[in-house]
Amino acid sequence: MSYEIPYKIYLEEKEMPDSWYNVRADMKNKPAPILNPATLKPITVEELTPIFCEELAKQELDDTTPYIKIPQEIRDFYRMYRPAPLVRAYCLEKKLGTPAHIYYKFEGNNTSGSHKLNSAIAQAYYAKKQGLKGVTTETGAGQWGTALSMACSYFDLDCQVYMVKVSYEQKPFRREVMRTYGAQVTPSPSMTTEIGKKINAEFPGTTGSLGCAISEAVEAATKQEGYRYVLGSVLSQVLLHQSIIGLETKAALDKYGIKADTIIGCAGGGSNLGGLISPFAGEILRGEADYDIIAVEPASCPSLTRGRYAYDFCDTGKVCPLAKMYTLGSGFIPSANHAGGLRYHGMSSIVSQLYDDGILTARTAEQTEVFKAAQEFARVEGILPAPESSHAIKVAIDEALKCKETGEAKNIVFGLTGTGYFDMVAYGKFNDGEMSDYIPTDEELEASFAKLPKVD
Ligand SMILES: *Cc1c(COP(=O)(O)O)cnc(C)c1O
Repeated sequence: MSYEIPYKIYLEEKEMPDSWYNVRADMKNKPAPILNPATLKPITVEELTPIFCEELAKQELDDTTPYIKIPQEIRDFYRMYRPAPLVRAYCLEKKLGTPAHIYYKFEGNNTSGSHKLNSAIAQAYYAKKQGLKGVTTETGAGQWGTALSMACSYFDLDCQVYMVKVSYEQKPFRREVMRTYGAQVTPSPSMTTEIGKKINAEFPGTTGSLGCAISEAVEAATKQEGYRYVLGSVLSQVLLHQSIIGLETKAALDKYGIKADTIIGCAGGGSNLGGLISPFAGEILRGEADYDIIAVEPASCPSLTRGRYAYDFCDTGKVCPLAKMYTLGSGFIPSANHAGGLRYHGMSSIVSQLYDDGILTARTAEQTEVFKAAQEFARVEGILPAPESSHAIKVAIDEALKCKETGEAKNIVFGLTGTGYFDMVAYGKFNDGEMSDYIPTDEELEASFAKLPKVD
């Protein structure tokens, strides 16, 4: 094997992008505006600022500025773990016997274990710059809460995390990482907020959900002076920050004259996928290039492939703005899939619009086949992947095997969003052959769609 392309394609620090890229600027069909839940009118910066930091509220509503400078303080933090390597998966290619060239962008190279730190540090920076005391948030699987705890401790901000109760109990180590970084972690639903009390009274013994934890965190932010709420996915500002993934990937490929054919990402709320594909989608939108972009979601939570494109609430308590997105309905509770970071009922409005316009396609994967792909990948490439990331691995392997049949030497790029060290209970289930797959029925989905808000 000749290694004309190095195993790890590192960019130098000085080659790290100095601006984020806002793909909305190049979209002819902009994502539909987010709506004020009280008036159902497009929300303004002024209406957002009681909940969100001012600069972040502006970024949320900015769909015209293509490049936004990354402040120096954020770049300084990024330099501790970025640029992230783009890795040529030589060993996986050999194992599969494929003529395809497989590359993955590895975002697990920091303590939070995922790409979420890219946006956490930006959001903490803007909160600090505004002179706030702290921020509140929710976390499901725990990756976002961990990333935000790290970011807040760096900028000396208070960090209050509402952690979905089932994860709080099942993932004590995640909780302790957050507490080590100084965050206050509360199991949700709690008895410290009105919405938490209400949900506990209505559903005694409930183990919580992401939508419910969001409502609690928003309430906590609005009730405490000097606090704002931050969110780790779905929002357009988060995709903007995550564009660093795609910009670095493109810079690394360009450095070696490689043109990607297929780009694959897992999709929960759409932030890593949106970040990875943004610069490539921008080229498609400007008519400069063509790519086959594939979003991969769990068969148990199929918002793009089986959802409705409609306005919906982002949380159970219906306090957040409404967004037009591919959604399963805000009341949809996905089955206990082990890829916790992909268990969200909706999808980023940017990714939703790009999908609706045919810029990307979507597929589902069932969790047993996802873990099989994870195991295959871990055994040859060394990295133990997060279950979420393994959805992308599964489809990358499928595509590489197709190339084996056709003899095409395609360049396949996928996002390896994180590591799975906190997911060993799930790996244990897989290793013991006790993992099951659940796919919601059409009837279940219809029942959920019937409760979508009537907006149009
Ligand atoms: C949160 C998470 C995801 C999914 O979130 P997106 O916003 O869809 O990117 C994927 N992988 C990992 C490792 C995560 O922590």
